[in-house]
Amino acid sequence: MRENTAMLDYIGERIPPENILRAEPMSRHTSFRIGGEADLFVKVPSIQALSELIRYFAQTGQEYYVVGRGTNLLVGDKGYRGVILHLGEEMSQIKVDGKRIIAQAGASLPKVAQVAAAHGLSGLEFAAGIPGSIGGGVVMNAGAYDGEMKQVVKNVLVINQYGEEMNLDNDTMEFGYRTSIIKDRPFVVAQITLELQEKPKEEVEALMEDLAKRRREKQPLEYPSAGSTFKRPEGYFAGKLIMDAGLRGLRVGDAQVSEKHCGFIINIGHATAEDVSELMEEVQYRVKKQLGVRLEPEVIKLGEF
Ligand SMILES: Cc1cc2nc3c(=O)[nH]c(=O)nc-3n(C[C@H](O)[C@H](O)[C@H](O)COP(=O)(O)OP(=O)(O)OC[C@H]3O[C@@H](n4cnc5c(N)ncnc54)[C@H](O)[C@@H]3O)c2cc1C
Repeated sequence: MRENTAMLDYIGERIPPENILRAEPMSRHTSFRIGGEADLFVKVPSIQALSELIRYFAQTGQEYYVVGRGTNLLVGDKGYRGVILHLGEEMSQIKVDGKRIIAQAGASLPKVAQVAAAHGLSGLEFAAGIPGSIGGGVVMNAGAYDGEMKQVVKNVLVINQYGEEMNLDNDTMEFGYRTSIIKDRPFVVAQITLELQEKPKEEVEALMEDLAKRRREKQPLEYPSAGSTFKRPEGYFAGKLIMDAGLRGLRVGDAQVSEKHCGFIINIGHATAEDVSELMEEVQYRVKKQLGVRLEPEVIKLGEF
């Protein structure tokens, strides 16, 4: 991206200087700990700032990409030429109103789940171990252990490609398996209203603890990863297919098919995006060849490889 003084001035008038990072390594902002530099990385502090920036980018044709907690992303080793709008800690307010929780998109799912539990609200227990933002969780219709965001989302405030606010209800979101209407549209999730059920706090916490224990036992949480690398093909489990194809522990550079859970590709040291990408392709090729099933990536690729 060429040095764009007008854009930097515009952003500088709305965002505190400490929230604007130039040539920022994306490896600092992804759970894979992989990714080259983004030209500009902006930690967005409010919904108003978000809509103003998007309006400005629409008018000027500036490339941008929205990132939450980076837990489902593989960013290329050559980074991203454009502006990353980061919705994280700076935009993470959570309010409780009776059985409803209103959370800004950058709030972490585990934090929102903890707040729900503390208020004796049930429905979000499944999300306590999903390390993404609630905004990313809504876009992906994140789910686990028979729960998914679709079951608890009442309403979503989005910013469209012109910087305008729109309210989408649950039906309009067209939630599906690891997808929603937002996935293929230039909308940004700004705030989510959840509707939960009352339940004794102890029961909510006990279920959360049980699910966390199951995760610790089954998943390689001690290594950087982006969770399940592939979607679950209908009628199968990706991890089981990969194991049956004899690919447990398969490596390209420092990227490895986890020995603990074959559905995860992990970074066992200094894996590059190219390592992970090559390993993903090898796994897809061998599973298709040996078992006839096509694996579709769940992890989203971003930037230049
Ligand atoms: C150890 C581990 C375990 C995991 N377990 C699960 C699991 O059980 N179930 C599951 O579903 N997922 C799981 N994941 C994957 C991941 O946490 C979820 O997909 C999560 O919802 C992604 O949120 P994020 O904020 O990290 O999104 P990011 O990775 O930052 O972004 C993912 C996509 O969403 C878009 N996006 C993010 N925020 C917004 C927004 N506010 N508006 C518009 N677009 C946005 C991005 O542009 C990108 O396309 C796991 C990941 C890890 C590392």
